[in-house]
Amino acid sequence: MKLKKIVCPFLCLMLLCGCSHVSFKKKNNPNQEVGESIQEMGFKDHSVYSILYPKTGIDDLDDKIKAIVEDGHKAFDEKTQAYKEKRKAEYNVSYESYVKDERYLSIRLDIYESIYENHEEIKTLVYDSKEKRFIGLEDIFQGDYLHALSNQAQTYFKERFPQECNQKNFELHSSAAVENFASFVLKKDRVVFYFSPGYLFDNAASMEIMYTDFKDYIDLSPETTSAYVPYDQVLNENVKPIDPDKPMVALTFDDGPSPKYTERILDALKEYNASATFFVLGSNAENAPKLLQRMVLEGNEIGNHTYSHKQLTTLSKAGIEEEIKETKECIYTITHIYPHVLRPPYGSKNDTVVKCAEDAKVVTWSLDTRDWKDRDAKIVVERILKDVKDGDIILMHDLYASSAQAAAIVIPKLQEMGYQLVTVSQLYEAKGM
Ligand SMILES: [Zn+2]
Repeated sequence: MKLKKIVCPFLCLMLLCGCSHVSFKKKNNPNQEVGESIQEMGFKDHSVYSILYPKTGIDDLDDKIKAIVEDGHKAFDEKTQAYKEKRKAEYNVSYESYVKDERYLSIRLDIYESIYENHEEIKTLVYDSKEKRFIGLEDIFQGDYLHALSNQAQTYFKERFPQECNQKNFELHSSAAVENFASFVLKKDRVVFYFSPGYLFDNAASMEIMYTDFKDYIDLSPETTSAYVPYDQVLNENVKPIDPDKPMVALTFDDGPSPKYTERILDALKEYNASATFFVLGSNAENAPKLLQRMVLEGNEIGNHTYSHKQLTTLSKAGIEEEIKETKECIYTITHIYPHVLRPPYGSKNDTVVKCAEDAKVVTWSLDTRDWKDRDAKIVVERILKDVKDGDIILMHDLYASSAQAAAIVIPKLQEMGYQLVTVSQLYEAKGM
């Protein structure tokens, strides 16, 4: 927020000699620990912009930063189309960046827009360079951390700003909800939460928590944990008993595992003592050994959904074999169990696919939830409950928040309707398929 007051766009623009766009590297300040600073400035008839952002050399992170900055700029340009006051509208981005350790990098972007009125927003990105992905609260906090954060925020701000805490937004936006604490960065010794202007209070606010003060709720081990179980340790397949004479359905989840949502589905299955089948992609599975091991330990089945989700019927025999074998070996390395079922991507199969599957049964589905299309838990739940019948294999994807939410709702509902939730292999055996 500070930077926009220091940089005077009008002064800078005079030096640009009419160039409407320029980039240059800027010397780092102490709150810019990651990457080199790129600055872009320019003007149009009615607006000016000044954008300062980091280039970290990590492609995923740089692409995301650029996307946020450019989308904001585009939206600003659209909003200023009708604006008439000469060079008064302003778009300004500044940033801070932090390194927790060699694993976690955090970026804070301050986005300021002034058209008819001013609007300021703080956006954060936290990147895990070991897992090579962006992370959220659920990746580093554990237990009932949302209530702990909410209590902490209420105590912290009531001590500091007792007057402002009476405003209506404060109770609502400091409550135990994920979105209230979604903007944060990881510094060396503390996590800092940010609240954009107008969110908790009229002005921007931040709250710092030392990792040592929150160690019951935080899991930030930078050390590399061994990804694979040792070969002498065989996983105990915790297959749940079923009654073959009672109705049953098999929930199946394709395309994962997803670091974000698979765990939620596993939690729901565990809570209701239900089982499902996860048709994993080899490319995802090798990054998530702990999730695969948990699937097996909690009585779920892991199926092969190929390595990279190519339509198998378009590949040569060797190509099909490679897609299947690589995933099969990956699942075995992690769980010591070969998959008994294979679901070809898009359900697309022919004789060669069946031959290449060897011992694994080629499985499609009988009830398509189309969860990938609607991304709406309510619609997905309704679709299942309306059409479900004994022996169904239900197709879902553990890639979406809405699907995880739908699973948590539909699992107890199906049980109430008298269905046992079984794995595909259990269903095949019970129905003699
Ligand atoms: Zn798929």
